[in-house]
Amino acid sequence: MRVMDEQEAYFNRQRQQMIERQIRARGIRDKAILAALATVPREAFVPSEYQYAAYQDSPLPIPGRQTISQPYVVALMMRALRLQPDDCVLEVGSGSGYATALLSRIVREVHGVERREELVTYARERLQKLGYDNVHIHHGDGTMGWPPAAPYDAIMVSASGPEVPPALREQLAIGGRLAMPIGRASDLQSLLLVQRTGPDSFQHKDLGGVRFVPLIGEQGW
Ligand code: SAH
Repeated sequence: MRVMDEQEAYFNRQRQQMIERQIRARGIRDKAILAALATVPREAFVPSEYQYAAYQDSPLPIPGRQTISQPYVVALMMRALRLQPDDCVLEVGSGSGYATALLSRIVREVHGVERREELVTYARERLQKLGYDNVHIHHGDGTMGWPPAAPYDAIMVSASGPEVPPALREQLAIGGRLAMPIGRASDLQSLLLVQRTGPDSFQHKDLGGVRFVPLIGEQGW
């Protein structure tokens, strides 16, 4: 029991340092985003052999040769998405469930789609254990979105594709925002922010260089 408490206190300190040094120091001040980062234990989403590195300023390996996203990059995407408490959000490539968990602390409802079955189980187990019950993880090809819960106020794509999948544009609410890395896996990719301004109109903005695993599917690579 005592050992558990010490470990928990250690991770709590690491998490606070991560927020100061990796997030606030880089200019992210949004209260809801900082509160979510302070609440969600990243150590619960990394495999046990990497727990010691849970608050490192980088992505880390998860099963299936995939990666849990870098906290700063998730924070950057969440800020760009201008999330509102009542939003319904889609995450494509939910992987470990870490970003899905962060989103769920800020908005009303989150749907995550993941193509690797082992990660669907991995994320569900962790989210359930933490009692995050406004999250739904679905198994499938997220380049096709998740039509049953559309339209979405925001869509976060956590893997890099050749272009924004048309299905995702269609499932975005008018006024909705989408953040997605564009480019090949081996190169530096660009983080693209798209806002749907009307039934057939979209505004685009380049948010700079990022590096993600590839988006594989019907409307991906
Ligand atoms: N946000 C996640 C990132 C995981 S890495 C986290 O923090 O853990 C990106 C994930 O996208 C991988 O798990 C990969 O399997 C998944 N992926 C790739 N192509 C996909 C697709 N077409 N549909 C759904 N998931 C996909």
